[in-house]
Amino acid sequence: MGEFELIRNFFAAAPCAQGGEGVALGIGDDCALLAVASGEQLAISTDTLVAGVHFADPCDPYLLGQRSLAVAVSDLAAMGATPLAFTLALTLPTVSADWLQAYARGLNAMAQSCDVRLIGGDTTRGSLTLTLTVFGRVPAGLALTRSGARVGDLLCVGGELGNAAGALPLVLGQRSADATIAAPLLAHYWSPQPQLALGQALRGKATSALDISDGLLADCGHIAAASKVALQVEVEKLPLSPALLSFLGEQGARAAALSGGDDYVLAFTLPPAELAPLLAAGWPVQVVGQVVAGQGVTLLDAGGQDITPGTRGYQHFAETP
Ligand code: ADP
Ligand code: MG
Repeated sequence: MGEFELIRNFFAAAPCAQGGEGVALGIGDDCALLAVASGEQLAISTDTLVAGVHFADPCDPYLLGQRSLAVAVSDLAAMGATPLAFTLALTLPTVSADWLQAYARGLNAMAQSCDVRLIGGDTTRGSLTLTLTVFGRVPAGLALTRSGARVGDLLCVGGELGNAAGALPLVLGQRSADATIAAPLLAHYWSPQPQLALGQALRGKATSALDISDGLLADCGHIAAASKVALQVEVEKLPLSPALLSFLGEQGARAAALSGGDDYVLAFTLPPAELAPLLAAGWPVQVVGQVVAGQGVTLLDAGGQDITPGTRGYQHFAETP
Protein backbone atom coordinates (compact mmCIF):
# COMPACT_ATOMS: atom_id res chain seq x y z
CA MET A 1 0.00 0.00 0.00
CA GLY A 2 1.44 3.39 -1.02
CA GLU A 3 1.29 6.64 0.92
CA PHE A 4 -1.66 8.03 -1.02
CA GLU A 5 -3.71 4.85 -0.80
CA LEU A 6 -3.05 4.77 2.92
CA ILE A 7 -4.21 8.37 3.38
CA ARG A 8 -7.28 7.76 1.24
CA ASN A 9 -8.31 4.46 2.85
CA PHE A 10 -7.77 5.19 6.50
CA PHE A 11 -7.92 8.95 6.97
CA ALA A 12 -9.63 10.79 4.09
CA ALA A 13 -12.44 8.21 4.25
CA ALA A 14 -13.00 8.53 8.01
CA PRO A 15 -16.33 10.09 9.05
CA CYS A 16 -14.43 12.78 10.98
CA ALA A 17 -12.65 13.86 7.74
CA GLN A 18 -15.86 14.73 5.86
CA GLY A 19 -15.77 18.44 6.71
CA GLY A 20 -18.21 20.48 8.74
CA GLU A 21 -18.78 23.92 10.20
CA GLY A 22 -15.75 26.16 9.73
CA VAL A 23 -13.94 23.78 7.37
CA ALA A 24 -13.83 25.47 3.95
CA LEU A 25 -11.45 22.86 2.46
CA GLY A 26 -10.32 19.54 3.96
CA ILE A 27 -7.88 16.76 3.03
CA GLY A 28 -6.49 16.60 -0.50
CA ASP A 29 -5.00 19.96 -1.42
CA ASP A 30 -1.73 21.61 -0.41
CA CYS A 31 -3.42 23.30 2.54
CA ALA A 32 -6.73 23.00 4.31
CA LEU A 33 -8.76 26.19 4.70
CA LEU A 34 -10.56 27.21 7.89
CA ALA A 35 -13.15 29.96 8.10
CA VAL A 36 -12.85 32.11 11.22
CA ALA A 37 -15.77 34.39 12.09
CA SER A 38 -14.97 38.03 12.83
CA GLY A 39 -14.82 38.61 16.58
CA GLU A 40 -13.25 35.18 17.12
CA GLN A 41 -9.65 34.09 17.50
CA LEU A 42 -8.07 30.82 16.42
CA ALA A 43 -6.55 28.75 19.26
CA ILE A 44 -3.78 26.39 18.02
CA SER A 45 -1.81 23.71 19.84
CA THR A 46 0.54 20.88 18.79
CA ASP A 47 1.31 17.68 20.72
CA THR A 48 3.79 14.97 19.78
CA LEU A 49 3.53 11.43 21.16
CA VAL A 50 6.61 9.23 20.77
CA ALA A 51 6.33 5.44 21.13
CA GLY A 52 8.07 4.25 24.28
CA VAL A 53 8.10 7.77 25.75
CA HIS A 54 4.46 8.90 25.79
CA PHE A 55 2.84 5.50 25.40
CA ALA A 56 3.83 1.86 25.75
CA ASP A 57 4.99 0.21 22.54
CA PRO A 58 3.31 -1.99 21.43
CA CYS A 59 -0.13 -0.91 22.63
CA ASP A 60 -3.73 -1.18 21.47
CA PRO A 61 -3.95 1.08 18.36
CA TYR A 62 -7.65 1.86 18.92
CA LEU A 63 -6.91 3.20 22.42
CA LEU A 64 -3.89 5.07 21.08
CA GLY A 65 -6.10 6.72 18.46
CA GLN A 66 -8.47 7.93 21.17
CA ARG A 67 -5.74 9.06 23.53
CA SER A 68 -3.60 10.87 20.96
CA LEU A 69 -6.49 13.13 19.99
CA ALA A 70 -7.82 13.56 23.55
CA VAL A 71 -4.52 14.93 24.90
CA ALA A 72 -4.32 17.42 22.03
CA VAL A 73 -7.96 18.59 22.34
CA SER A 74 -7.47 18.99 26.09
CA ASP A 75 -5.31 22.05 25.35
CA LEU A 76 -8.30 23.64 23.60
CA ALA A 77 -10.43 22.92 26.69
CA ALA A 78 -7.80 24.62 28.83
CA MET A 79 -8.08 27.81 26.73
CA GLY A 80 -11.89 27.79 26.77
CA ALA A 81 -11.88 27.17 23.01
CA THR A 82 -14.44 25.28 20.91
CA PRO A 83 -12.78 22.57 18.75
CA LEU A 84 -12.83 23.18 15.02
CA ALA A 85 -10.31 20.92 13.29
CA PHE A 86 -7.06 18.96 13.62
CA THR A 87 -4.17 17.69 11.53
CA LEU A 88 -2.32 14.40 11.99
CA ALA A 89 1.36 13.89 11.17
CA LEU A 90 1.91 10.15 11.33
CA THR A 91 5.35 8.52 11.28
CA LEU A 92 5.16 4.73 10.97
CA PRO A 93 7.91 2.07 10.97
CA THR A 94 5.83 -0.27 8.77
CA VAL A 95 2.41 -0.18 7.15
CA SER A 96 -0.08 -2.55 8.77
CA ALA A 97 -3.65 -2.28 7.53
CA ASP A 98 -4.99 -3.77 10.79
CA TRP A 99 -3.06 -1.29 12.91
CA LEU A 100 -4.09 1.69 10.76
CA GLN A 101 -7.73 0.64 10.71
CA ALA A 102 -7.88 0.33 14.49
CA TYR A 103 -5.93 3.56 15.05
CA ALA A 104 -8.23 5.49 12.67
CA ARG A 105 -11.32 4.04 14.38
CA GLY A 106 -10.12 5.18 17.81
CA LEU A 107 -9.18 8.59 16.44
CA ASN A 108 -12.57 8.91 14.79
CA ALA A 109 -14.45 7.95 17.97
CA MET A 110 -12.68 10.69 19.95
CA ALA A 111 -13.10 13.17 17.08
CA GLN A 112 -16.86 12.56 17.02
CA SER A 113 -17.16 12.93 20.79
CA CYS A 114 -15.20 16.22 20.72
CA ASP A 115 -16.91 17.44 17.50
CA VAL A 116 -13.61 18.12 15.72
CA ARG A 117 -12.67 17.38 12.09
CA LEU A 118 -9.55 15.90 10.50
CA ILE A 119 -8.45 18.37 7.80
CA GLY A 120 -4.97 17.19 6.79
CA GLY A 121 -1.65 15.84 7.88
CA ASP A 122 1.51 14.16 6.72
CA THR A 123 2.54 10.52 6.44
CA THR A 124 6.17 9.44 6.72
CA ARG A 125 8.29 6.38 7.55
CA GLY A 126 10.33 6.22 10.76
CA SER A 127 9.89 5.20 14.38
CA LEU A 128 6.29 5.44 15.56
CA THR A 129 5.49 9.09 16.31
CA LEU A 130 2.19 10.96 16.25
CA THR A 131 1.97 14.73 15.99
CA LEU A 132 -1.46 16.30 16.22
CA THR A 133 -2.23 19.96 15.79
CA VAL A 134 -5.63 21.13 16.97
CA PHE A 135 -7.46 24.31 15.97
CA GLY A 136 -10.27 25.84 18.00
CA ARG A 137 -12.20 29.08 18.05
CA VAL A 138 -12.74 31.39 20.98
CA PRO A 139 -14.42 34.81 21.27
CA ALA A 140 -11.68 37.46 20.94
CA GLY A 141 -10.18 38.34 24.30
CA LEU A 142 -11.92 35.54 26.24
CA ALA A 143 -9.35 32.74 25.95
CA LEU A 144 -8.27 31.38 29.36
CA THR A 145 -4.54 31.95 29.74
CA ARG A 146 -2.09 31.09 32.50
CA SER A 147 -1.28 34.66 33.40
CA GLY A 148 -4.35 36.19 35.04
CA ALA A 149 -4.45 34.61 38.54
CA ARG A 150 -4.89 37.19 41.30
CA VAL A 151 -4.20 37.14 45.03
CA GLY A 152 -7.40 36.05 46.79
CA ASP A 153 -8.60 33.76 43.97
CA LEU A 154 -9.50 30.16 44.73
CA LEU A 155 -7.43 27.38 43.14
CA CYS A 156 -9.80 24.82 41.63
CA VAL A 157 -9.74 21.61 39.59
CA GLY A 158 -12.39 20.08 37.34
CA GLY A 159 -12.40 16.53 38.73
CA GLU A 160 -10.53 13.63 40.32
CA LEU A 161 -6.75 13.69 40.10
CA GLY A 162 -4.17 10.91 39.82
CA ASN A 163 -6.26 8.23 38.10
CA ALA A 164 -4.13 8.09 34.95
CA ALA A 165 -0.87 8.01 36.93
CA GLY A 166 -2.42 5.24 39.04
CA ALA A 167 -3.12 3.30 35.83
CA LEU A 168 0.49 3.46 34.64
CA PRO A 169 1.75 0.33 36.50
CA LEU A 170 -1.23 -1.52 34.96
CA VAL A 171 -0.48 -0.18 31.47
CA LEU A 172 3.18 -1.20 31.80
CA GLY A 173 2.25 -4.66 33.13
CA GLN A 174 4.12 -4.04 36.40
CA ARG A 175 1.06 -4.66 38.56
CA SER A 176 -2.38 -6.13 38.21
CA ALA A 177 -5.64 -5.31 39.96
CA ASP A 178 -9.26 -6.39 40.20
CA ALA A 179 -11.37 -5.26 37.25
CA THR A 180 -13.39 -3.00 39.58
CA ILE A 181 -10.19 -1.07 40.31
CA ALA A 182 -8.34 -1.48 37.00
CA ALA A 183 -11.22 -0.54 34.67
CA PRO A 184 -11.87 3.02 35.92
CA LEU A 185 -8.14 3.80 36.19
CA LEU A 186 -7.35 2.48 32.70
CA ALA A 187 -10.30 4.40 31.23
CA HIS A 188 -8.78 7.65 32.52
CA TYR A 189 -5.42 6.75 30.99
CA TRP A 190 -6.58 5.59 27.56
CA SER A 191 -9.57 7.82 26.93
CA PRO A 192 -9.30 10.99 28.98
CA GLN A 193 -12.30 13.20 28.28
CA PRO A 194 -11.15 16.75 27.47
CA GLN A 195 -13.15 19.13 29.70
CA LEU A 196 -14.39 21.22 26.78
CA ALA A 197 -17.74 22.25 28.21
CA LEU A 198 -16.18 23.26 31.52
CA GLY A 199 -13.48 25.31 29.78
CA GLN A 200 -16.12 27.16 27.77
CA ALA A 201 -18.23 27.74 30.91
CA LEU A 202 -15.20 29.32 32.59
CA ARG A 203 -14.75 32.00 29.88
CA GLY A 204 -14.97 35.42 31.49
CA LYS A 205 -15.02 33.81 34.97
CA ALA A 206 -11.74 31.98 35.62
CA THR A 207 -8.73 34.28 35.84
CA SER A 208 -6.30 31.57 34.62
CA ALA A 209 -6.48 27.95 33.51
CA LEU A 210 -4.52 25.01 32.12
CA ASP A 211 -4.98 21.28 31.69
CA ILE A 212 -3.01 19.11 34.10
CA SER A 213 -0.64 16.93 32.10
CA ASP A 214 2.44 16.76 34.34
CA GLY A 215 0.90 16.61 37.83
CA LEU A 216 -0.92 19.29 39.84
CA LEU A 217 2.19 20.75 41.53
CA ALA A 218 4.23 21.11 38.35
CA ASP A 219 1.34 22.56 36.36
CA CYS A 220 0.31 24.96 39.12
CA GLY A 221 3.92 26.16 38.96
CA HIS A 222 3.21 27.35 35.41
CA ILE A 223 0.22 29.44 36.56
CA ALA A 224 2.20 30.82 39.50
CA ALA A 225 5.11 31.85 37.26
CA ALA A 226 2.97 33.32 34.46
CA SER A 227 0.71 35.18 36.92
CA LYS A 228 3.52 36.25 39.29
CA VAL A 229 1.69 34.91 42.35
CA ALA A 230 2.06 31.94 44.72
CA LEU A 231 -0.36 29.00 44.78
CA GLN A 232 -1.17 27.01 47.91
CA VAL A 233 -2.49 23.46 47.51
CA GLU A 234 -4.21 21.85 50.51
CA VAL A 235 -3.48 18.13 50.51
CA GLU A 236 -6.71 17.26 52.36
CA LYS A 237 -8.80 18.78 49.58
CA LEU A 238 -7.39 16.71 46.68
CA PRO A 239 -10.25 14.87 44.93
CA LEU A 240 -9.16 11.20 44.84
CA SER A 241 -11.22 8.35 43.37
CA PRO A 242 -12.18 5.28 45.44
CA ALA A 243 -10.40 3.09 42.84
CA LEU A 244 -7.15 5.06 43.20
CA LEU A 245 -7.33 5.04 47.01
CA SER A 246 -7.82 1.28 47.17
CA PHE A 247 -5.08 0.63 44.59
CA LEU A 248 -2.37 2.93 45.99
CA GLY A 249 -3.47 3.79 49.54
CA GLU A 250 -3.85 7.38 50.74
CA GLN A 251 -0.16 8.36 50.50
CA GLY A 252 0.27 6.80 47.05
CA ALA A 253 -2.97 8.30 45.76
CA ARG A 254 -1.93 11.77 46.95
CA ALA A 255 1.48 11.40 45.32
CA ALA A 256 -0.19 10.36 42.03
CA ALA A 257 -2.51 13.37 42.19
CA LEU A 258 0.29 15.82 43.00
CA SER A 259 3.12 14.59 40.81
CA GLY A 260 1.76 11.98 38.39
CA GLY A 261 1.01 12.88 34.78
CA ASP A 262 -1.70 12.43 32.20
CA ASP A 263 -4.78 13.61 34.13
CA TYR A 264 -6.02 16.12 31.51
CA VAL A 265 -8.32 17.64 34.13
CA LEU A 266 -8.54 21.45 34.16
CA ALA A 267 -6.89 23.49 36.94
CA PHE A 268 -7.97 27.13 37.21
CA THR A 269 -8.18 30.13 39.48
CA LEU A 270 -11.51 31.68 40.31
CA PRO A 271 -12.54 34.85 42.14
CA PRO A 272 -14.48 33.57 45.21
CA ALA A 273 -17.76 35.17 44.04
CA GLU A 274 -17.76 32.98 40.90
CA LEU A 275 -17.77 29.68 42.82
CA ALA A 276 -21.39 29.40 44.02
CA PRO A 277 -23.02 30.11 40.62
CA LEU A 278 -20.77 27.53 38.89
CA LEU A 279 -21.59 24.90 41.55
CA ALA A 280 -25.30 25.74 41.36
CA ALA A 281 -25.17 25.22 37.59
CA GLY A 282 -23.74 21.74 38.21
CA TRP A 283 -20.16 22.30 37.00
CA PRO A 284 -17.60 19.92 38.55
CA VAL A 285 -15.55 22.54 40.41
CA GLN A 286 -13.44 21.39 43.37
CA VAL A 287 -11.55 23.92 45.44
CA VAL A 288 -8.05 22.62 46.27
CA GLY A 289 -6.29 25.77 47.47
CA GLN A 290 -5.84 29.49 46.95
CA VAL A 291 -3.73 32.20 45.39
CA VAL A 292 -1.52 34.25 47.72
CA ALA A 293 1.22 36.82 47.26
CA GLY A 294 4.69 35.44 46.52
CA GLN A 295 5.95 32.90 44.03
CA GLY A 296 5.94 29.16 43.45
CA VAL A 297 3.65 26.39 44.72
CA THR A 298 3.32 25.29 48.33
CA LEU A 299 1.66 22.13 49.61
CA LEU A 300 -0.08 22.50 52.97
CA ASP A 301 -1.30 19.78 55.37
CA ALA A 302 -4.58 19.98 57.32
CA GLY A 303 -2.91 22.13 59.97
CA GLY A 304 -1.52 24.59 57.41
CA GLN A 305 2.06 23.25 57.70
CA ASP A 306 4.27 23.43 54.58
CA ILE A 307 4.86 19.85 53.35
CA THR A 308 6.00 20.65 49.79
CA PRO A 309 7.81 17.62 48.28
CA GLY A 310 10.85 17.85 46.01
CA THR A 311 9.30 16.13 42.99
CA ARG A 312 7.80 18.45 40.40
CA GLY A 313 6.31 16.24 37.70
CA TYR A 314 7.82 14.71 34.59
CA GLN A 315 10.16 16.82 32.49
CA HIS A 316 11.88 15.77 29.30
CA PHE A 317 15.64 16.49 29.38
CA ALA A 318 15.56 17.12 33.16
CA GLU A 319 18.79 16.12 34.93
CA THR A 320 18.22 13.22 37.30
CA PRO A 321 19.79 13.89 40.68
P1 ADP B 1 2.17 17.46 0.29
O1 ADP B 1 3.09 16.67 -0.57
O2 ADP B 1 1.61 18.70 -0.33
O3 ADP B 1 2.74 17.68 1.68
P2 ADP B 1 0.89 15.05 0.99
O4 ADP B 1 1.11 14.18 -0.15
O5 ADP B 1 1.78 14.90 2.19
O6 ADP B 1 0.87 16.56 0.49
O7 ADP B 1 -0.61 14.90 1.50
C1 ADP B 1 -1.69 14.90 0.59
C2 ADP B 1 -2.95 15.33 1.31
O8 ADP B 1 -3.25 14.35 2.32
C3 ADP B 1 -2.80 16.65 2.03
O9 ADP B 1 -4.06 17.32 1.98
C4 ADP B 1 -2.49 16.26 3.45
O10 ADP B 1 -2.94 17.24 4.36
C5 ADP B 1 -3.26 14.94 3.60
N1 ADP B 1 -2.65 13.98 4.53
C6 ADP B 1 -1.42 13.41 4.49
N2 ADP B 1 -1.23 12.55 5.50
C7 ADP B 1 -2.36 12.57 6.24
C8 ADP B 1 -2.79 11.91 7.41
N3 ADP B 1 -2.03 11.04 8.07
N4 ADP B 1 -4.03 12.19 7.87
C9 ADP B 1 -4.83 13.09 7.23
N5 ADP B 1 -4.50 13.72 6.12
C10 ADP B 1 -3.28 13.49 5.62
MG1 MG C 1 3.40 15.87 2.88
